[in-house]
Amino acid sequence: MAAIFSGFGGILGFGDSMSLKVYNTLSRSVEGFVPLKKGEVGMYVCGPTVYGPGHIGHARTYTAFDIIRRYLEYKGFKVKYVVNITDVHDDLIRRADEDGTTIFSLAEKNISLFMKDLDALGIKRPSVMPRVTGHMKEILEVIEALEKKGFAYETEDGVYFSVSKFPEYGKLSGIKPKKRMTGTRVETDKYEKGDAADFALWKKAREGEPSWPSRWGDGRPGWHIECSAMSTKYLGNKFDIHGGAVDLVFPHHENEIAQSECAFGEKPFVKYWLHAGFLNVAGEKMSKSLGNFITIPQLLGKFDPKAFRFFIAGLHYRSRVDFRDEYIVNAAKGLAKWNAMIQGLLDADGKDNGDEVKTAISGARHGFEKCMDEDFNLPNAWAELNGFQSKINSILAAGGPSKADAQEAIAFMKELNSVFGFFEFGKKAEEKAPKEIRDLIAEREKSRKEKDFAEADRIRQELRQKGFELLDTPQGVKFKKT
Ligand code: AMP
Ligand code: ZN
Repeated sequence: MAAIFSGFGGILGFGDSMSLKVYNTLSRSVEGFVPLKKGEVGMYVCGPTVYGPGHIGHARTYTAFDIIRRYLEYKGFKVKYVVNITDVHDDLIRRADEDGTTIFSLAEKNISLFMKDLDALGIKRPSVMPRVTGHMKEILEVIEALEKKGFAYETEDGVYFSVSKFPEYGKLSGIKPKKRMTGTRVETDKYEKGDAADFALWKKAREGEPSWPSRWGDGRPGWHIECSAMSTKYLGNKFDIHGGAVDLVFPHHENEIAQSECAFGEKPFVKYWLHAGFLNVAGEKMSKSLGNFITIPQLLGKFDPKAFRFFIAGLHYRSRVDFRDEYIVNAAKGLAKWNAMIQGLLDADGKDNGDEVKTAISGARHGFEKCMDEDFNLPNAWAELNGFQSKINSILAAGGPSKADAQEAIAFMKELNSVFGFFEFGKKAEEKAPKEIRDLIAEREKSRKEKDFAEADRIRQELRQKGFELLDTPQGVKFKKT
């Protein structure tokens, strides 16, 4: 019954939580989604540490959560979406030192790059993107509350959270502190006293490091406290969804729970914990030393960002991602088929097919929502949508549909695009070629002018492999995506 009503949430303007189910890392099960406040969702996703440009792992996680956010909005929820920016961190201090700059100008440069990258990837700007440097007061208030309640203690080098005071520690990850008493944290050596599982809330300043004043002396926040402080400031002591990739379950999110629940007393401080699968490159963890580290600007220089988004949208947000160039090349082809279908509908002025188009639309909408309501099951949703594509293509091939039916099908594709953000409604393929492709075309033109036809042919082949077919027309070189 619920599924029948699910399509009306957006139209009526209220959040339909009757049918949506999400996998909650906290309960390790799929649960019905009931937000704290009817029709509204508060959602926080851990943001990037901005010591360099964003990488394709970030692109994966923020695209996955962007689709979740947009689907919640599609269902009529009013979503407040917070993504923090970590602009104080060991990595920033180290990189600023190496580059002979300050963490502030390093962060500024990478934040503006990151914003541009989000836009290019079709990721809607979050409602708020708070930065650590702008929230020292709030961070210190949480640490003070923890100390006052007896959960924190001061040492020579900082202020620490006492894990043994919070018996529920480990409830998210299933990792209990006893199992990692020694040797698992860098901070272990620095302790004067306390448990090896205890973690830093405040790090007292070392020579030459950026620092902020506090009642424990100058210093900077520990790794986890910023998220407790900023999520609470923007979403309240208790909110609906907290996300990040699976690498953050332990210790970051476990520590966030300990800090927030002990400081504010609301349990659970987050109702649903959602974790995206990690992205690896050709089967290996991305790392500078392996030479397989791909930044977002590198990705965008090589591929159409919409093809990357189409690739990510084809996967379940919880599945591990293996990134390979050929997957994006294939995704570009898959997306081109959808855009060709849309183009066919835009040009359609054919014969009436009775209820065929209307039936196909309502079946596809129902199937799409049913699958997305099952913990945002995109692979299943695409199976439904691919059936719709075949149906419409066969109608187009048979000389249909009528203009009016085509308009309805386009309206449906636009509804879907409010979630996906990668379909094109009438734009020319030429405008969308990534820089790398435009450069190759220019290079081929040069070779032809210089009568180096072997090189020109080689470039044509290379473009073909990348999914672009060149057409030498009287008006000059054109191309189409294959
Ligand atoms: P970081 O910049 O490492 O603090 O990470 C920011 C966000 O990106 C967090 O939500 C991480 O879980 C996520 N993230 C980092 N690396 C990857 C990766 N390789 N694959 C997917 N998500 C990642
Ligand atoms: Zn966080």
